[in-house]
Amino acid sequence: MMAVNMERFVSEAKGNGLRALREIKAGEVIHSCEPYAFCIAKDFLKTACQSCLKRGESLSRCSQCKTARYCSAQCQKQAWPDHKRECKCLKRLQPRIPTDSVCLVARIIFKLLSQSESDQEELYSIVEHQSHLADMSEEKKEGLRHLCMTLQVYLGEENHDLSPLPPGLDPISLLARVTCNCFSISDGELQDVGVGLYPSMSLLNHDCQPNCVMIFEGKRLMLRAVRLIRPCEELTISYTDILATSKERRSHLQEQYHFLCQCTRCSTEDKDCDMLAGEKTAWTSLRDAIPHLEQLQSEQRWEELLKEGKAFLHRYADVVPDRNIYVLRLLDLAMDACISLDDYETALEYGNRALESYKLYYSDPHPSRAVELLRVGKLQHYQGRLEEAQGSFTQAYDIMKVTHGTAHALTNEVSRKLSECQAELGRV
Ligand SMILES: [Zn+2]
Ligand SMILES: [Zn+2]
Ligand SMILES: [Zn+2]
Repeated sequence: MMAVNMERFVSEAKGNGLRALREIKAGEVIHSCEPYAFCIAKDFLKTACQSCLKRGESLSRCSQCKTARYCSAQCQKQAWPDHKRECKCLKRLQPRIPTDSVCLVARIIFKLLSQSESDQEELYSIVEHQSHLADMSEEKKEGLRHLCMTLQVYLGEENHDLSPLPPGLDPISLLARVTCNCFSISDGELQDVGVGLYPSMSLLNHDCQPNCVMIFEGKRLMLRAVRLIRPCEELTISYTDILATSKERRSHLQEQYHFLCQCTRCSTEDKDCDMLAGEKTAWTSLRDAIPHLEQLQSEQRWEELLKEGKAFLHRYADVVPDRNIYVLRLLDLAMDACISLDDYETALEYGNRALESYKLYYSDPHPSRAVELLRVGKLQHYQGRLEEAQGSFTQAYDIMKVTHGTAHALTNEVSRKLSECQAELGRV
């Protein structure tokens, strides 16, 4: 079933878009769909099922390519039509594994080649998707050409003839389209476990204060309203991290999606002053250190990360407030490190400080704030601070009712935690 809540339209400033056909309340599901094509992110190949995206320790491997993993025989069977041709490519490339975009484009090519009539149900087909090739810098085009070579090696001799592809959908333009049109598929903890193409959803334009959010159940995408939407109002999502200044957001959007954001928040530089509060020389040196600290995080060098993070927090305690976004990023990193090092008390201290700023920046219900509340609630619960935990879980639940819905696995987890807290409080 397609689109009774929304329709395609052409907005004057932004080109193609989607708008509401009726009044939609906060928390309503506007649309839900399966991907046209998707693949697991390289980092999760060993830990997530290639069919349902569930995480698991003991997944069974495809006996042919030894790369694809599944949680059950049923999942493996279901995935076979999408995996069949890719399996041979993966086997040939062993032990190398292509990047996510190459994997995804190969899957799109296989699907296009095996379908007589493609995606008729979609409001917006791959053929119509923008590739923005003309807007790209030479450097970016060079990167695409390089990816294209990898793609050709991956596809191999047996897929040499791509002439049956629809006109205009050559490998390089498909790679370009995927860069601007695919979505990260995130799990409950907001980790990006995969990438997928949901053709109609590419019609959604960006806003730095969007009225919709995308949530996934496995690889199924759900578009949900986060506030009241009037009939004919444009539906928007955010393509970029909201915890960034208007300048950072605009440059990221320009770089990856080739447009200048003219949203109200960008035009008014909304909250930029808060985000950059404090002594400039101090936060610039912190800002410049963040990539290095994130590197430590990705390499799981927790002791070093915590030591350096603490030094920064100590040094700038009096001159840069917590609402400064670089301090906020640092608090999140330090909290992660503490949790990994089993220092739950300090983790909670950082988590509580971060939450104050999350409240300031996420004024509408937002999954990031809900997940942060859940993390803090778990820490409070663990330390026996039952009333505080109950408060955090309640706030998380109230947000998730809107962003995830009451049937989502994560909302159920919060609701279970909340009941546990209440039961324990009843006993005290
Ligand atoms: Zn599975
Ligand atoms: Zn295989
Ligand atoms: Zn904006």
